[in-house]
Amino acid sequence: MIRRSFLAALAFAAALPLTAWAETPLAETPLKVVATTGMIADAARQVGGDHVEVKGLMGPGVDPHAYRQTRSDIVAMTRADLILWHGLYLEAQMEDFFHDLGRKRTVVAVAEGIDKSKLRGHDDYADKYDPHVWMSPTLWRDVVVEVQEALTAARPEAADIFAANAEAHLAELDALTTYANQALAAVPENNRVLVTAHDAFGYFGATYGYEVMGIQGISTQSEAGLNRIGELVDTLVDQQLTAVFVESSVSDRSMRALIEGAAAKGHDVGVGGELYSDAMGEPGTYEGTYVGMLDHNITVIAGALGADVPDRGMNGKLSAGF
Ligand SMILES: [Zn+2]
Repeated sequence: MIRRSFLAALAFAAALPLTAWAETPLAETPLKVVATTGMIADAARQVGGDHVEVKGLMGPGVDPHAYRQTRSDIVAMTRADLILWHGLYLEAQMEDFFHDLGRKRTVVAVAEGIDKSKLRGHDDYADKYDPHVWMSPTLWRDVVVEVQEALTAARPEAADIFAANAEAHLAELDALTTYANQALAAVPENNRVLVTAHDAFGYFGATYGYEVMGIQGISTQSEAGLNRIGELVDTLVDQQLTAVFVESSVSDRSMRALIEGAAAKGHDVGVGGELYSDAMGEPGTYEGTYVGMLDHNITVIAGALGADVPDRGMNGKLSAGF
């Protein structure tokens, strides 16, 4: 009799939908995460899934070098379980703020965890590194792992879920690397020069073998001098380069001066496209994710410099007519 009811109970349990077992109370109270850049917010969403509620402070077109925390940012951070910022002097105007906040809250600078031997130096400051590590999906892997570790420390019960989500996202980053290698190697060798508004593409250049020239330095805080524009005009004319790129988070005023300067010397230069340098696209769009941002940049650069690339990028998801 006892045995029969035990078996009946087992049969009943087996008939229950699996979700009833898998569901934990965790997802009902998601971990509140605040991230500075859109790229870090995306990494937290990819790894955290349903177990996190992420607020990104810097939206599309926002320049992280110049950004200062607003009143509502401060409120969000005081309510957050975990605060993720980039570090490496990217958020130059918020350094002191985060160092202070770190005494009271859990604050993690996710790019500071990257092995320093993988980083490039900073032209503007001798003792600092180039912060634009998101431009290389290989380097960005390390940041995703840092985000995974920070989320796991904040909510150890969900460690397995975070690990599985991170693994899936890292596989997407590897696919991005494969696509980038193919698309960018299809550009004729003497066209592999990237002229942009500021020096955000150093890791991109180092990873894919492109010469990179920015009108402004690594930070957008330094003024572009007339000398610099004159030098770049000469380079465009000498190397017969025909495409330059504007950035969604930096004014294109200097870029127009560059194009006009080349035109005055009888050399025709056009805008190859708009790149996402320090901020992603609109939330809810493919370009508003890290993978979409990089897919856009790779496809626009390779296409404008003479490679045959798929119109809608590696996943067929890019918006038409970029
Ligand atoms: Zn930048």
